[in-house]
Amino acid sequence: PTDTTKERHPKMEMNDKRKRQSLILYLIIAIAVAVTLRTLLYPSIATMQVQKKSYSEFLEMVDDDQVRQVQLTTGDNTIRFTTGEGDGEQVFETTQFPNDDKLVERLEKHDVDFSAQIPDTSASMWLYVLINLAPLIIIFGGGWLLNRRLKRQMGDDNPSMNLGGGFGLGQGGLGRSNAKEVKGEEVDTTFKDVAGQDEAKESLQEIVSFLKNPDKYTEIGARCPRGALLVGPPGTGKTLLAKAVAGEAGVTFFQISGSEFVEMFVGRGAAKVRDLFKEANKKAPCIIFIDEIDAVGKKRDMSLNSNDEREQTLNQLLSEMDGFDNHKGIVVLAATNRPESLDQALLRPGRFDRRIPVELPDLTGREAILKLHAGDVRMEPGINFGSVARQTPGASGADLANMINEAALRAVRMGRKRVSQTDIEESVDVVIAGEKKKSTVLSEHEKDVVAYHETGHAIVAAVQDGKAPVSKITIVPRTSGALGFTMQAEEDEHYLTTREEYKQRIAVLCGGRAAEELIFGHMTSGAANDIEKATKIARAMVTQLGMSEKFGMMALGKQRSRYLGGGTELTCSEGTARDVDEEVKRLVEEGHQTALKTLNENRFKLHEIAHYLQKKETITGEEFMNILNRDDGFAPKYNSAPEG
Ligand code: ADP
Ligand code: MG
Ligand code: ZN
Repeated sequence: PTDTTKERHPKMEMNDKRKRQSLILYLIIAIAVAVTLRTLLYPSIATMQVQKKSYSEFLEMVDDDQVRQVQLTTGDNTIRFTTGEGDGEQVFETTQFPNDDKLVERLEKHDVDFSAQIPDTSASMWLYVLINLAPLIIIFGGGWLLNRRLKRQMGDDNPSMNLGGGFGLGQGGLGRSNAKEVKGEEVDTTFKDVAGQDEAKESLQEIVSFLKNPDKYTEIGARCPRGALLVGPPGTGKTLLAKAVAGEAGVTFFQISGSEFVEMFVGRGAAKVRDLFKEANKKAPCIIFIDEIDAVGKKRDMSLNSNDEREQTLNQLLSEMDGFDNHKGIVVLAATNRPESLDQALLRPGRFDRRIPVELPDLTGREAILKLHAGDVRMEPGINFGSVARQTPGASGADLANMINEAALRAVRMGRKRVSQTDIEESVDVVIAGEKKKSTVLSEHEKDVVAYHETGHAIVAAVQDGKAPVSKITIVPRTSGALGFTMQAEEDEHYLTTREEYKQRIAVLCGGRAAEELIFGHMTSGAANDIEKATKIARAMVTQLGMSEKFGMMALGKQRSRYLGGGTELTCSEGTARDVDEEVKRLVEEGHQTALKTLNENRFKLHEIAHYLQKKETITGEEFMNILNRDDGFAPKYNSAPEG
């Protein structure tokens, strides 16, 4: 199965750049809009204001009987007065001369209608405030919206995320962790929901009992683990296990993804970390779970384009982990599938000092996971989960959960009420190789080539010491692009692989191409994937496993990413690198020769099985072995002499 985990970090950095660019663009537009609005609005307000007159002019106008009405606003002593009538009406304004006690007398004398008013500035005040605040509202409000859109674009799927903050000092305060908080009673995942990770569960059990009863530990003076790091390939149940710890202990669970800490502004990620720990401190005992911690915890480097923001965030995380009061019962869990990229400082005692491997499930583990997930769907009685487990070496828990779901979907499609064994077997193929592809119509010749190719793999696998016999061969094209595949089932799990076994694996991978060469005398593109895999094994044998005669036990390279299937990075000199290539080439060629020899010796069986496969399209391991082991009497005749 191919893994679907994306490289998180490069994407983050790209987003950062994009974010910064749109931020600058946005600020320019916002300021332009704000300035325009202000200049447009202000003059019109100014023209609404009435014409000013001096106080002496006002008195003169009263004496001339021009003034009809006077309104005095107490407080600021403004006098507003009206002259003329109807269309000729005009309003003026002046300020009362202090202590003019003759004014009332004068107004009465000229028969002016006068009144006084307590100032009501509220309306105009609000307008004034609004106009002055408009630019700020636009800048911060718009910034908040933009921020939100950017976060959406980044595919943030955390609905409960706190979006406050806008750009920097907006509403909602600086920082605020994005952590999703789940209260203890609400965590409904327990260890029962995790199958086949017994060692991991055992390691975590101690954390559970510490969280349940921190005092018991502190009384003795035991320093309890502050942090544990779950490492393993994608889909093995790391996130699930972290939740289960909270569920078992019944404590609050804060979940945040490492990438959510990485922010646009330097210092904001660090503020989030601070907030998160502050919040956790209030809710202790509790669990802080940082998923995909490699996004923040990557090694700090000396390179020029180092990411200041990420480093600050990491530093903050380190100091928070040192600082928190361990007696209260806060445990920091983190998960990653690239442990080799983590900063060493994170791994030292007192931080993530416990490293809990969450590996791909073994045979019994796979069976247990299948059974667990099958509990959620209606199954026909008597399903053989063991055989499915044997067919799925290398599948992760997530793959297996997916298989059960695919099987249920298939049962519905078929109009059945229960999931049958065939549904599951069929869904194994779907998860491993993709859906059957009906649109691919192969010519008879191409079908022939694929049948011989797959049979070639199968025979080389079966003839060599049969540790992993063939369980299925099919030449139905799949959406993944595979035109057929041969499935090998493991009989019993083993944890050490010998040099011979690696060599056999290479030979099996070469079996497809070897069959094509032997029968058709030409090569096709169908072997590209096989070649890639064979070369990878050979390279690992030479550079990491010390399994070549030439170099012996010398480490010549290190694996880039163990859990993500990354390639090998050579750590040797250029001259040696050339020799390494030579040695890798030799190993693959050796496997190729073994395959050719094996198939040549079993040429007759190769024809027979390939024809049978051509006709049936999918055959089981049993059918295959039956034909292979059948004594046809005349088989030896074809054994060595190539066919005319
Ligand atoms: P990871 O975090 O290691 O990438 P997850 O914990 O997200 O993987 O697992 C994804 C899903 O796969 C889970 O929700 C669960 O349904 C299934 N799964 C994975 N491992 C197991 C397991 N050991 N037992 C049961 N289910 C599992
Ligand atoms: Mg996960
Ligand atoms: Zn192949």
